[in-house]
Amino acid sequence: MERTLVLIKPDGLQRNLIGEIIGRFERKGLKIIGMKMLSIDDLNVEEHYKKYIHKPFFKNLKNFMQSSPVIALVLEGLEAVSAVRLITGDTKGRNADAGTIRGDLAMGGQTNLVHVSDPKEDPEGEVKRFFKEKELFQYKKVDMHYLYSPDELGK
Ligand code: ADP
Repeated sequence: MERTLVLIKPDGLQRNLIGEIIGRFERKGLKIIGMKMLSIDDLNVEEHYKKYIHKPFFKNLKNFMQSSPVIALVLEGLEAVSAVRLITGDTKGRNADAGTIRGDLAMGGQTNLVHVSDPKEDPEGEVKRFFKEKELFQYKKVDMHYLYSPDELGK
């Protein structure tokens, strides 16, 4: 099983969409193995968005990400990184497909509700940046055999 990081950004908190967003990941069948509220400090925001640090919009992005706490989640599932990206939708909310979180609930290109790991940017490294191993939980979930076939579960 693969694991991937999700951050519900400050607009998700301010717009009262935490439950809606987590609900979409739950309904998809992704298993929540870690969850917490935190403030992103300077170092973390700079590391997290290091590819954009020299872009003119970086200052606004940093201010936005630090404007209120965020909710961090680690989700687990088969090919979880791509599954989570598909239901999140394109970066710019107003261009994202209907049915996705951003397509249904966001308009902005910066204020787009969620960060989700990119397969090109070391998803495991992102999980480890936000969570200690002891904050991640391995537990049995009763719906596994209705979410995946035995072949998919390797049984
Ligand atoms: P995604 O979040 O869809 O993986 P990126 O990794 O390209 O997209 O960008 C990370 C985040 O940086 C975006 O979600 C968005 O909040 C912000 N961002 C990206 N491009 C811009 C831009 N041109 N102007 C303002 N903010 C941007």
